[in-house]
Amino acid sequence: MRYCIVGAGFSGAIMARALAEAGHKVLLLDERPHVAGNCHTSRDGETGVMVHRFGPHIFHTADERAWTYINRFGVMKPYVNRVKAQSQGRIYSLPINLMTINQFFGTTLRPDEARQFIAARADQSITAPQSFEEQALSMIGPELYRAFFHGYTKKQWGVSPTELPASILNRLPVRFNYDDNYFSHPWQGMPQDGYTAIIENILKAEGIELRLGQSFETVDERFAHVFYTGPIDRYFSYSLGRLGYRTLDFEAFVADGDYQGTAVMNYCDETVPYTRITEHKHFAPWEQDRFTRTVCFREYSRQAGADDVPYYPIRQVGEKALLTRYIERARATPGVSFMGRLGTYRYLDMDVTISEALAASDRVLDIARQGGVIPTFFVDPS
Ligand SMILES: Cc1cc2nc3c(=O)[nH]c(=O)nc-3n(C[C@H](O)[C@H](O)[C@H](O)COP(=O)(O)OP(=O)(O)OC[C@H]3O[C@@H](n4cnc5c(N)ncnc54)[C@H](O)[C@@H]3O)c2cc1C
Repeated sequence: MRYCIVGAGFSGAIMARALAEAGHKVLLLDERPHVAGNCHTSRDGETGVMVHRFGPHIFHTADERAWTYINRFGVMKPYVNRVKAQSQGRIYSLPINLMTINQFFGTTLRPDEARQFIAARADQSITAPQSFEEQALSMIGPELYRAFFHGYTKKQWGVSPTELPASILNRLPVRFNYDDNYFSHPWQGMPQDGYTAIIENILKAEGIELRLGQSFETVDERFAHVFYTGPIDRYFSYSLGRLGYRTLDFEAFVADGDYQGTAVMNYCDETVPYTRITEHKHFAPWEQDRFTRTVCFREYSRQAGADDVPYYPIRQVGEKALLTRYIERARATPGVSFMGRLGTYRYLDMDVTISEALAASDRVLDIARQGGVIPTFFVDPS
């Protein structure tokens, strides 16, 4: 009997490749008409620019295995993410660094002076922060919090930062130097031909039948085992209720030349309804000058409804309690394993997704060789 893998994103594609290379037969399903899941890229018909269809995806990692793996299936070009932000009518550099601090306060502080300056603004009366807002105020004080976090966080999560857990902001969101590289990982890049080409290359292996445009629910076949990378609550027909997600709406527009001069511009003020504008030709600096026109996306965040693409798991107390009940049900269901961001209801960067899928496939191949039961989860999702 062959294996079934539901979902042709990184999680499903990596498992399919590993099983196929070991000589197993696999049916890989995705209800979408394309592979690559939420990392799907394709060229914009009007401008020719490579567009990240479900929001921009920047590959960054400290995990050598994940970096080696992605480089095996495509050329990764150098790309450094340098985010800009509009706040209160001015442009700043993010994450907050020495340039941001000096521009915002009109100062010329050096690192140690800036450290003392920010420490003096931090709210020392908050000794045990209970919310995101209290955490931010205790770390950076009211001015930077209001300018860069309050409105943006409210727009992104749809609730006041006073209602979000303090744990969201566990590190000081400030750098006391001029490093504006958004990510601090040693390896960072963009696939020359987009992520979809990478997944297509992963799937070029004997033994994989890829069926696009078909949902698991419509398949009538018995399998040796199912690896499910769709939403865990959906597998159980939402019988215990729906896990909450934030979704995104993308408002596309085309302009001549260069619209904003950079890939990502955050809009921090609450009065601006979108969270950011992304200009996708700047995600491919090696080819951006080829295009005379440009395509941009205004990004709006809201609570996901039943028919929306689930993006960010909310994971508040209520959702976690519901997740626990789905985990119990999954563990009592033989023949299926849950993987990936939707199967485990966690936000996962691509490198973590790759590394977890590689570890899961190592384990499955060991079990296939030596016997044993394939686990329901390869990482604890709770
Ligand atoms: C807005 C946004 C921006 C991001 N930016 C970055 C970034 O910059 N850098 C980074 O490293 N990571 C980023 N990520 C994370 C990245 O998207 C994930 O790591 C990756 O998509 C996870 O892959 P996956 O295979 O687990 O899931 P997915 O890519 O979601 O794939 C799951 C697939 O399963 C299919 N499916 C689901 N249910 C069924 C069913 N019942 N039947 C058939 N098919 C089904 C879906 O159609 C989908 O194609 C971002 C995520 C979001 C939401």
